[in-house]
Amino acid sequence: MEKGLEMAEKKDYYEILGVGKNASDEEIRAAYKKLVKMYHPDLHPNDPLAAEKFKEINEANEVLSDKQKRAAYDFEREHPGMGGPDGAGFGGFGGFGDIFDSIFQGFGGGASVQRDTRGEDIQVNMSLSFMDAAKGCRKEVTYTRNEPCKACSGTGAKNGTAFKTCAKCSGKGQVRFTQETIFGRTVRVGACPDCKGRGKIVTDKCPECKGKGFLRRDTTVTLDIPAGADTNSYIRRRGFGQASPDGWEPGDLIVVFRVEPHKLFSRKNMDLYVDLPIPYYTAALGGKVYVPTLDDAVEYTIPEGTQSGETFTIRHKGIKSKNGTGNLYLRVQVEVPAKLSREQREALKAVAAAQDVKQFDLSKKYADSMSALYGVEAYKK
Ligand SMILES: [Zn+2]
Ligand SMILES: [Zn+2]
Repeated sequence: MEKGLEMAEKKDYYEILGVGKNASDEEIRAAYKKLVKMYHPDLHPNDPLAAEKFKEINEANEVLSDKQKRAAYDFEREHPGMGGPDGAGFGGFGGFGDIFDSIFQGFGGGASVQRDTRGEDIQVNMSLSFMDAAKGCRKEVTYTRNEPCKACSGTGAKNGTAFKTCAKCSGKGQVRFTQETIFGRTVRVGACPDCKGRGKIVTDKCPECKGKGFLRRDTTVTLDIPAGADTNSYIRRRGFGQASPDGWEPGDLIVVFRVEPHKLFSRKNMDLYVDLPIPYYTAALGGKVYVPTLDDAVEYTIPEGTQSGETFTIRHKGIKSKNGTGNLYLRVQVEVPAKLSREQREALKAVAAAQDVKQFDLSKKYADSMSALYGVEAYKK
């Protein structure tokens, strides 16, 4: 609700979408679809004007395609200067809370009414392979829901038209409740109990859905999952939740992701981590290694004297997401051969004979402490 009340910017959303003030939901949807295609950033790379326009179109659609937000927007448009939700302009009415409630109930729903009438959201969990999540992918999700009945447009009335006007509210969908209080008579406006605020009563039930307005069906939705999806991130698909039992907007589908682990990679946000075993001679002498990245293996030069556990950063080889590109962190593990041939053993012995423990930082500290304690040399050649 709060979002719909942000009226600081006086943009004309109707003008932006090029529709009239009384445009139907259908007209708004069509106008939005047309414009959003026209100004899509993919078609206008590096064009800030198109990008701005695209943003405006989406903003306008977000408000005008939502019953409550549109009502609040219209109200503000027709009553400029009446004050925002801080109630500054409502002082004379004896508390803006009641008035505010009335206004929004008059439009068929405030926050509380909306919760009761809109269909429920459906949450679906989806596992993604590490690579699919990192690189982005297209997936289908199939689930069962109460789908709004197409034959009656979710109204439950035959052909969507077999209605009569509600007698109690004369089709307005709202009724006034008059109360005597110690402050005098107060009037509240609320949803009509007979027609649940719809203003109409079904006279002939839709044969498809037997008047329910929805059908229990398997629904398949295709999701374009952007690169960088992470565990517990989600995609919300508006209107793909349960149909509303009262013929209002359906709820949303919320697909929550869980990213499976990978044999080589681990990740933190958009950064990737790889543990790379390197032979002891490469660690000592330095040399080229191949490092796995998301797309292929890249060459990397390990410097001379690399220690086990040392980490190197390969910049911008992490996950490329909308929110930036991560790094690849390469952690080396020095591997000692489990078996030596006779030649290798002789060669290594020659190396060892020429070796001085003073060249090794950690070993030297250890050897010094040990000889200080016990007078024993730590290492024997
Ligand atoms: Zn009614
Ligand atoms: Zn139906």
